[in-house]
Amino acid sequence: MHILVTGGAGYIGSVVVEELLAAGHAVTVIDNLSKGHADAVPPEVELIRADLREPTRLRQILREARIEAVVHMAADSLVGESVQRPEKYYNNNMVAGLGLLDAMVEVGVLRLVFSSTAAVYGEPERQPIEETAATRPTNPYGETKLALERALAWYGGAHGLRSASLRYFNAAGASARCGEVHDPETHLIPLVLQVAAGRSPHVTVFGDDYPTPDGTCVRDYVHVVDLARAHVLALDGLERGSCTYNLGCGGAGYSVREVLDVAREVTGAAIPVRVGARRAGDPAVLVASSTRIEKELGWHPRPGALAKIIDSAWSWMRAHPHGYAHN
Ligand code: UDP
Repeated sequence: MHILVTGGAGYIGSVVVEELLAAGHAVTVIDNLSKGHADAVPPEVELIRADLREPTRLRQILREARIEAVVHMAADSLVGESVQRPEKYYNNNMVAGLGLLDAMVEVGVLRLVFSSTAAVYGEPERQPIEETAATRPTNPYGETKLALERALAWYGGAHGLRSASLRYFNAAGASARCGEVHDPETHLIPLVLQVAAGRSPHVTVFGDDYPTPDGTCVRDYVHVVDLARAHVLALDGLERGSCTYNLGCGGAGYSVREVLDVAREVTGAAIPVRVGARRAGDPAVLVASSTRIEKELGWHPRPGALAKIIDSAWSWMRAHPHGYAHN
């Protein structure tokens, strides 16, 4: 199939592009490069620098490239920022997303894989989290992702749009070509590795008084390549109809302190730590049940792969000490 990947120059998007190509699909990327990197897009893939809020252009791209399905990943994704600037998230995630759906329906492209988030669950009552858990987002990031998920269901009923919503837990790691570079960086693993590389003096642990075994927050880290592969499976799965899947490794997850210990083993660096205040909006534990996607699509993430995840991120960082050459 010929797939349009929105946000395909971003961290996860660029790895999804690699996996789609490996599965034999043709890919076109649309990205406004507000956060993505042109160099992250493989040279054989056309990168269209455009914004999703250009409906005429969007329809033209869908028609002229004879797009058959869309993987929609272009979005803002910082919880803290979304609380400070909800308008940015309502515009870039919800309004732009609805514009994409409208263009797809108008042109007759009726298959979509949507990158959603564990943030739709808010503070869940039970772990591991199943897809049937209540969705009560506690910030505009989760809220706007959930709004688009809900729109997908209504567009499905009215217009025959088939969709898979993939609720990501903590994507981390790198492929051989593509790694994580954000500016500013807020994610734990790249920050830890920056300290290991001697680029910053210490990691601040955001709170060690949570009700978890060592007092630090527990998260479900998924290798970005495993995550990307799920998109290829989800595309195939659309033949059977629309669905929502968690994407996490399950199990017990890893605390911030466990991430630090594994990073010390992988890098051989001391990685000094300071304990700081809790970060607003951080639930104590977020761990997925990924039974549904395992059973329905045969997706199997590498369990307990934190060392491999950190090792891949570390290798990429050392091979790309300055990140990507171009924005
Ligand atoms: N975290 C931390 N120090 C940092 C960055 C993150 O202690 O400098 C913690 C954060 O509170 C959370 C976990 O690490 O419990 C993962 O945070 P990240 O921002 O990587 O992903 P999130 O879970 O927010 O999507």
